[in-house]
Amino acid sequence: MPLKESEAIVLRTFPLGEGDRLVSFLDRQSGRVRGVARGARLPKSRFGSTLEMLAYIRIWYFERETRELVRINQCELIESFLDVQRDYSSSVALALVSEITDSVLGEREAADAQFRLILLTARAIRVHGPSQVVLAYFCLWTARLGGWLGPLDRCSRCGRVIQLETVFHSAGFAEIYCANCRDERMKPISKEALSVGRMALAGTLDRLLKENPAIAPTKEILSYALDVLEHHIEKKLVSRRTFEVGESGIIEI
Ligand SMILES: [Zn+2]
Repeated sequence: MPLKESEAIVLRTFPLGEGDRLVSFLDRQSGRVRGVARGARLPKSRFGSTLEMLAYIRIWYFERETRELVRINQCELIESFLDVQRDYSSSVALALVSEITDSVLGEREAADAQFRLILLTARAIRVHGPSQVVLAYFCLWTARLGGWLGPLDRCSRCGRVIQLETVFHSAGFAEIYCANCRDERMKPISKEALSVGRMALAGTLDRLLKENPAIAPTKEILSYALDVLEHHIEKKLVSRRTFEVGESGIIEI
């Protein structure tokens, strides 16, 4: 039973048995892994606050060939996002990031780019709050890294290069169509929203934040990306609903 050491991000945890925790985490080298942290819910647990949502940790765990669940031996905190979680709407944004990542990644598929994207996003939420710009960047890039998002500059039917104009798509599907090729049931994406999406996919998050895109088109492209992700995972994201029914002051998507 070899002991493995790696950097990881805690995605989600669930109570297990009397005092244990089932932990889904993203191992920087091996991808998404699930394991058991024995005694993690007991007072004075040796895991301390290392298993909080999106905690960036160094982890040591035992793998067993015959079992799907690894046994988590030890964790050391590299960076915590507990401070960000103190703000309710920021904590909902972090929950969305963790739920999406946990849902879209296959088990044990290396995902270093997603790893860096999560850290970038969580740090940006710490600085900028639960900004739609940050979430739109995260969702668009998660869809792109998953291979579900094509270029946002060509009609999927006729192949025509799309300038800055309104395009159309079927809810949940990433393919965009020009006005000539659209189907009646398709939903429009405004040219402003398309522009935010292209900017997100063409540059860095810093640059996108500096551009400070307007809220309405940002929400629109965020909603498009979330629909694509939900379609792919074949379920509704619980934390997305939390946004939508959020109290006043909570962002709506
Ligand atoms: Zn077309």
